Amino acid sequence: MSRAEPDLSAFSLAGKRILVTGANTGIGQGIAISVARAGGSVIGVGRSAMDETGERIAAAGGRFAAVRFDLSDTASAGAMLDRVWDESGPLDGLVNNAGIIRRADAVELTEADWDDVMDVNLKAVFLLSQSFARRVLAEPGRRGKIVNIASVLSFQGGIRVASYTASKHGVLGVTRLLACEWAQKGINVNAIAPGYIETSNTEALRADPDRSASILARIPAGRWGRPEDIGDAAVFLLAPASDYMHGAAVAVDGGWLAR
Ligand code: NAP
Repeated sequence: MSRAEPDLSAFSLAGKRILVTGANTGIGQGIAISVARAGGSVIGVGRSAMDETGERIAAAGGRFAAVRFDLSDTASAGAMLDRVWDESGPLDGLVNNAGIIRRADAVELTEADWDDVMDVNLKAVFLLSQSFARRVLAEPGRRGKIVNIASVLSFQGGIRVASYTASKHGVLGVTRLLACEWAQKGINVNAIAPGYIETSNTEALRADPDRSASILARIPAGRWGRPEDIGDAAVFLLAPASDYMHGAAVAVDGGWLAR
């Protein structure tokens, strides 16, 4: 007896155009590759060359375009998204992934360490979301999906990362607020809270044998996360399968927050 082919269309991004910030490396690269694998076209936005991401996506038969932009230029962030929309076509999804971290004891953290992190991790996230929503809402019937990359430090305090923790708590708050405002207008806003992922963001932790061992010992899954773990969760939040999800923070953390 032959079995019917599974219908995976609810998890497909075929025909969708997704903007991913910070797509040159780490989690953003993982998201870009997962989106392309799910059939989506990726527009990577970042301040560094994204050749490696482009090559990996092209090798898998996917579509990728790079837009060079420094997100610390918050005054121009909204206009950048408008330009992408006008010059290359409407967007179906926005993944606010780009982020920075500054590690220092709270008594040592400088004002610049506070402002720089807040600008990229929180202010740019809001301004890009606002710009994306303005364009979606301007076209009756158009829908959109926003996925913000939060952190387990959206729920926990952490240590020596004051501005980062504040920014990631803010990302969760803004995700919930925007979800409430836009849920009935055709835009889903959700977040992913990654645990400890092997990227340059966590290089300093992994280089410290004591910190590294104590973090690993606390992760129920018994391993650090990989960029593709986050990428595949992002596909779900960008695809029709998650149409009834609004304001959720999906922990992809090997069980860290469950502990
Ligand atoms: P990463 O490897 O350091 O990547 C950060 C990305 O953000 C890079 O593409 C970086 O570009 C980009 N970026 C930073 N500042 C930018 C700016 N001013 N303009 C444009 N792009 C900028 O770190 P990651 O771990 O993949 O981090 C991605 C996101 O996941 C961040 O929001 C981070 O907070 C979050 N996260 C990470 C972990 C983890 O364990 N790794 C855990 C929870 C949350 P450049 O390469 O040019 O700097």
